[in-house]
Amino acid sequence: MDKQKLIEFLRAEGFNKNVIRAFSKIKREDFISSDFKKHAYNNEPLPIGVGATISQPYTIAFMLELLELKNNLKILDKGIKMKILEKGIKMKILEIGSGSGYVLDLVNEICKDSLIYGIEINKKLVIKSKEILKEKKNIKIVYGDGSEGLTKFGKYDRILISAASDKIPSHLYPQLNKNGILVCPVRNSIFQIKKLNEKDYKIKEFPGFVFVPLRKED
Ligand code: SAH
Repeated sequence: MDKQKLIEFLRAEGFNKNVIRAFSKIKREDFISSDFKKHAYNNEPLPIGVGATISQPYTIAFMLELLELKNNLKILDKGIKMKILEKGIKMKILEIGSGSGYVLDLVNEICKDSLIYGIEINKKLVIKSKEILKEKKNIKIVYGDGSEGLTKFGKYDRILISAASDKIPSHLYPQLNKNGILVCPVRNSIFQIKKLNEKDYKIKEFPGFVFVPLRKED
């Protein structure tokens, strides 16, 4: 598949235009192992080096859609774009298992001006992804086991987990802001969990996916 075909495929699947735009803007080939660059736009998982893989674009698009990312931009009349940062506070987003940095870059493309954090357990991938994304000062990548989240930067509006847990990671709920959304694979399902308030959560399950498991520190 070439890039245009992949974009058409994602469009036919009905993903929203901000998600599609991010896939057309960000170069997947920059994030994968050199031997696989000619397959960069196949709808399949690809190696990112050191035994890890990047998920297939469809799965990534599905998770990004469930995150309900806002792009901090409002189209005013006559197509003039103006920033509307809610009360001057930027959206804060965390990805656990940020791997190559591809998904961080897609998130950044969708919601410009957000504070984006990645935590990754594989040191080589941390070094590589920091290098690729070094110009993007709003993206921070931390080396470590993210299975307990990342409390250092406070609470988040969105948390995405890119590797599967064996049960819903409810221990991460305190790291979500009110109205925050956690998207996480649990075994072969993707869950979308919205925090309505400290006690109430709205949980939706979408079965039929495959993920590598979250692991413990090397
Ligand atoms: N979204 C990534 C790829 C995800 S693959 C990308 O865009 O490239 C899953 C990633 O989760 C792998 O890189 C793996 O090393 C990482 N991982 C697995 N267990 C982890 C843990 N406990 N903490 C942080 N990262 C973890």
